[in-house]
Amino acid sequence: VRQDLFHQLHDVVLRGWKGRKLFIITDSNVRRLYGSRLLQALSSAGGDACLLDFLAGEKSKNASTFLSLHSALLGLGIRRDSLIIALGGGVVGDVAGFVAATVLRGVPFIQIPTTLLAQVDSSVGGKVGIDHQFGKNLIGAFHQPAAVYVDPSILKTLPSAEFRNGLAEVVKIAAALDARFFREIEREAHVITLHSTSTLTRLISRSVGLKAAVVGKDEFDTGLRKVLNLGHTLGHAFETASGYEIQHGMAVALGLVAESRIAVAMGLLQRHEYHRLVQALAALKLPTKIPRLKNAAKFFAALGVDKKTEARVTKFVLLKGIGHTVIGVEVPASVIIESLRS
Ligand code: ADP
Ligand code: ZN
Repeated sequence: VRQDLFHQLHDVVLRGWKGRKLFIITDSNVRRLYGSRLLQALSSAGGDACLLDFLAGEKSKNASTFLSLHSALLGLGIRRDSLIIALGGGVVGDVAGFVAATVLRGVPFIQIPTTLLAQVDSSVGGKVGIDHQFGKNLIGAFHQPAAVYVDPSILKTLPSAEFRNGLAEVVKIAAALDARFFREIEREAHVITLHSTSTLTRLISRSVGLKAAVVGKDEFDTGLRKVLNLGHTLGHAFETASGYEIQHGMAVALGLVAESRIAVAMGLLQRHEYHRLVQALAALKLPTKIPRLKNAAKFFAALGVDKKTEARVTKFVLLKGIGHTVIGVEVPASVIIESLRS
């Protein structure tokens, strides 16, 4: 993680991957902003590079994009020792990573994340994949990037809604794992919203450091890694029930609020800690008011809860204080429903 790293990346890549064929995969927006520049820098420094792109947006994270990229790469003569460079947000990272995991049974790839969400969360950890009609991220693999290069200065062009999306994951990581980091976020919330690059650099380093430590202990998500699902059980339900009108980060912010209410109701979290969490999210201009559910059936279906039978779900990760979590808490449907009332 380093400010202005982007301008040196062609050197870094060419030194680390001498003589390899390089394939940059990006989306239509990032191509225009950064992709062409990286391609040019690599080529003028003597690299054998080409660039492939697809239409920006979550809608492109599908099998058809995945297969077209395969065709393009195979057509251009990709080899087992080639390098794929994923340049873009979470969508690019997930798709390009999954292509790297599968083409010729796997080629190495590196991540150059360009959204805050990708920089603090999705570029690290090796989860790659695409969406299916049945739901998001249902087809995929674990394929670790050989390296992740983060340049916080690249966020200057990021739309502010996208920026806030990433902040929700930062709050999640701090609340789940590090009380001191959480206190720093509370203190510096205002500066963070002003996009101060030096503050962001620290924020991103801390977040990925915490995430990488968790992933290092549980790469394949069978235990500890579940702490990173904080806010995501209800978050995914908000996202799905809104027909993806609510963006991921905003849904996670709402999930953090509602799940913390559950944690209070279950006697795990103190009320004043719940208020700290809500205040931190609000200070970062993230939503904290639980919306009226337009489609309650869809919401509870996404959770796997039958509202009428009060069936129990087991999947919650809950806070038992800022910086501490409990995994696998069973929560009765009635408590979930109560947590959704403002
Ligand atoms: P996420 O990272 O949240 O999963 P995407 O990969 O879809 O989401 O990126 C969100 C949007 O932001 C896309 O339209 C993408 O093209 C655009 N984008 C990505 N990085 C930048 C950037 N640094 N500056 C401006 N727009 C960007
Ligand atoms: Zn998330």
